[in-house]
Amino acid sequence: MIRSLLVAGAVVVCLALGLPGDETGPAPAVVLMDPQISWVPEAPAEGTLFRIRVQASPHTPLLGVHGAAAGEELHFRRIDDQLFESFAAAPIGAGPAIDAEFRVVYEAEGEESFTSTIPVTPGVYDHEELRVAPRFGAPPSPEDQAQLERDRASARKASQTAHRTSPRWDVDVMMPRDSRVTSGFGDGRVFNGRVSSRHMGLDLRGARGDTVLAAAAGDVLLVEPFLLAGNVVYLNHGAGLLSAYFHLSEQLVEVGERVSAGQAIGLVGATGRVTGPHLHWVVRYGRTSVDPRSLLTVMLPVDSMP
Ligand SMILES: [Zn+2]
Repeated sequence: MIRSLLVAGAVVVCLALGLPGDETGPAPAVVLMDPQISWVPEAPAEGTLFRIRVQASPHTPLLGVHGAAAGEELHFRRIDDQLFESFAAAPIGAGPAIDAEFRVVYEAEGEESFTSTIPVTPGVYDHEELRVAPRFGAPPSPEDQAQLERDRASARKASQTAHRTSPRWDVDVMMPRDSRVTSGFGDGRVFNGRVSSRHMGLDLRGARGDTVLAAAAGDVLLVEPFLLAGNVVYLNHGAGLLSAYFHLSEQLVEVGERVSAGQAIGLVGATGRVTGPHLHWVVRYGRTSVDPRSLLTVMLPVDSMP
């Protein structure tokens, strides 16, 4: 492994590191240390967002950091001269750990790859019994099946777009409704006596016509009628993050519009597969759905994160 670097006085030296028996090069002027990779919190809960930090050693400044965790691309931002940070997601059902890989690009020259194993804390979930309309309990009709596939394709494309967009959020982040949680993220759902799925969003109480706010600043990505989710609004917050608001009675924004945190984007409704009006709120990192409340905690200053 050969690295070249600039030391004080702008003398360029080449250091041969990790090559036993190689004593032909000059004595190292400085001790090179690998960048330090850490994450907050130390063992993120499954189904939550967390932060990954890459701290360069003072003598080997970095030009940039790239990587992936649990199969999702990471988007590192420079926090200061030596610190880079990205959001990441621990998927639900991730097991005891997720794998992450990093490629650091040195300011002087060259790049290097690292891997980390990030421990994950298991989540705790409820089970919920639901009665649904027979239409949704039976296999879908060919027409419904075709629409389901179109809806899924739109959602997948939204994830790809979020990964390709630079950060759109600012410091403001909030719950889209100031109301009680009526169904938690990750809860098991029993439809017609069978456990059929997990609840991959957060249900917030609301009456038809109540206002739904944008949780963070972003670009309006989708305004659609979906079969199961009803009238939806998807916001692209960039750097892999998106949020979605389901079952709306009205959508108050248009595709391409820039919205700020707290802006009214829709009204609570009961469209799609629902038993009554409420807001189903979704937050995803790429394709990975997370507990939407972790969007609020991941944006806190590092020393006040739970
Ligand atoms: Zn829901």
